[in-house]
Amino acid sequence: MQVVDKLGWDPQTVGELDHRRLTAPHVKLRSLTRGSAGDAVYCVDLRINQPNTVFLSSTEMHSFEHFLLWGFQKYMPANFLSIGLMGCQTGFYLVLLNEGRADQICSVYESILRDILRAHEVPYANIEQCGNYRNHSLESAQQLAQRVLEARSNWRQVV
Ligand SMILES: [Zn+2]
Repeated sequence: MQVVDKLGWDPQTVGELDHRRLTAPHVKLRSLTRGSAGDAVYCVDLRINQPNTVFLSSTEMHSFEHFLLWGFQKYMPANFLSIGLMGCQTGFYLVLLNEGRADQICSVYESILRDILRAHEVPYANIEQCGNYRNHSLESAQQLAQRVLEARSNWRQVV
């Protein structure tokens, strides 16, 4: 746990927590897994909404997911492994290889959200690259990005 401390995470909030305690939006380390060669895989929660209160619509989640996919690939090409939706519609799972510093991850996340505000279209929202390409809204993604950015100073406040 000392390792996660050095990376900037509160060891008390790593892992699975009682969802009634969670505040949002937040950025939280879920797990750190070491491979036999010393590589590290970090799973990070990008929680957008407080659990069991308000839920993201499928369109909001979908467009936001495209932007996060595009952005983490752009800013962390050597580390980004995947982004996934939380089925409860309150956030996203980010998976990174060999990059677990909280400040670095939050700074990239912030850059992506700022890019969303300036974007003119949702990335990959076309029939060749998406399995439901009509289900997108740039405006919804921008409203969401704005809301998460406004809470930037509280991202590390998990509970
Ligand atoms: Zn898609």
